[in-house]
Parts: sequence; structure tokens; C-alpha cells
Amino acid sequence: MTNLDVEWAKDWMRRASANLTEHRMELIDLDRAIGDGDHGENMSRGFSFVLERVNDNPPDDVAGVFKLVAQTLMAKVGGAAGPLYGTAFMRAAKVAEGDLDAAWVGTMCEAALDGIVTRGKATTNEKTMVDAWTPAIAAANAAAEAGKTAAEALRAAADAAAAGAEATIPMKATKGRASYLGERSIGHKDPGATSTSYLLATAADAAEAVG
Ligand code: ADP
Ligand code: MG
Repeated sequence: MTNLDVEWAKDWMRRASANLTEHRMELIDLDRAIGDGDHGENMSRGFSFVLERVNDNPPDDVAGVFKLVAQTLMAKVGGAAGPLYGTAFMRAAKVAEGDLDAAWVGTMCEAALDGIVTRGKATTNEKTMVDAWTPAIAAANAAAEAGKTAAEALRAAADAAAAGAEATIPMKATKGRASYLGERSIGHKDPGATSTSYLLATAADAAEAVG
């Protein structure tokens, strides 16, 4: 298994764009239930622009891909998710150097979460994407410590993020638009936590495709 490189990062963006387009309606429906219904459109549009830019001006390294993602999402995606994911990818770009190995996967997720928390000031159990990124870090670090590959660490992170997204269902939202609903936000899965699990799943898909 090779370490994660620029080809992986570009393939991740190809897969993210396709996957988020595929899940556009599902994310719209989740956001309709507890928000304003734009999350699926925000994410699929945002990552389509990212892919266009990656194809037009292919970056030389992983940090370059992540910076382009950050700039594109901040410029093109409205709502909370654009700046939140934008900051996440900007922070991830800053740690994308040296050996991008299994141990780095946890570092990347931690940098992303730091960006999201700096920007959005949410903590765990507030029914946001923080509830997907937080368990992803622990799972990635555990996989790395167990001697797994980078692809396996990404898969562990993605699976933990998916479980984290499921775990938002009984939570009451206290941050973001969903918090306006108070108790009525209970019983619905958070759209941002769900899109985080899809993003990480496509990162794992891209790493597994390299072999
Ligand atoms: P908006 O809420 O402005 O319509 P989106 O619908 O694109 O933006 O994104 C909503 C998602 O953003 C939520 O599901 C949640 O996961 C995430 N979110 C909102 N506010 C915060 C915050 N303060 N911290 C972390 N994540 C947040
Ligand atoms: Mg919304």
C-alpha cells in the first residue's frame, strides 16, 4: 500500500463530487426536516466546482488540492457548510506534508475538526458535523496504532463518522439553523454529519482503489 499522494487527493475529489451528487436529494430531505433544505445542493454544487477546478488546474500535491477545495467551498458555497468545510480543508492543507501514512489520517481529521470548531464553536452532542469528525479521529488513530494501512485508517474514520451521524438522530440541536427547532430537531439525522461520513467514505474508496 502506497502512502496517500496527489493522485489519491484528486481521485477523492472525483469520487466526492459523484457521491454528493448521488446523495443530493437525501441531504436535501435531511436538511428540509431540520433546516432550510439547501445542504444537498450546497454540497453537490460545491464539489462539482471543486472537480472542475482540479481538472482545469491540477495541483502538484495534496496540500494544493486541499487549498483549492477550501477556496472553492468558501467562494461558491453559501450557508454554514461552505465556510465550515472550507476552514476544515484549509487546516488539513496545513498538515499535508511529509509521509501521508496511516498515522497522518488522524492528524488530517483532527486539523479539519479544529477548523470547524474554530469557525462554528460547536462541541460534541450539539447535532452537527462535529459529531461525525470527532469519532473519526479516534477511529483513525486506533487503526494507525494497530498497524493498519492508510486506506484502512480512512475506512475506519469513515465508518466511525457514519455511526456518529446516526448517533445525531436522538440529539437536540443547539447550534446552527436546526437549533431554531429546539425539541423538534430530535428524531432527525444531521445533514452535515451525514455529508461528512460520505466525504470520508470517498477518501477511503480512493485510497482502496490505489491498492
Ligand atoms: P445552513 O444551515 O446555513 O443552511 P447547510 O444546510 O449547508 O447550511 O449546512 C448545515 C449543516 O452545517 C448542519 O447539518 C451542521 O452539521 C452544520 N453546522 C451548522 N452550524 C454549525 C456549527 N456552528 N458548527 C458545526 N457545524 C455546524
Ligand atoms: Mg441548510
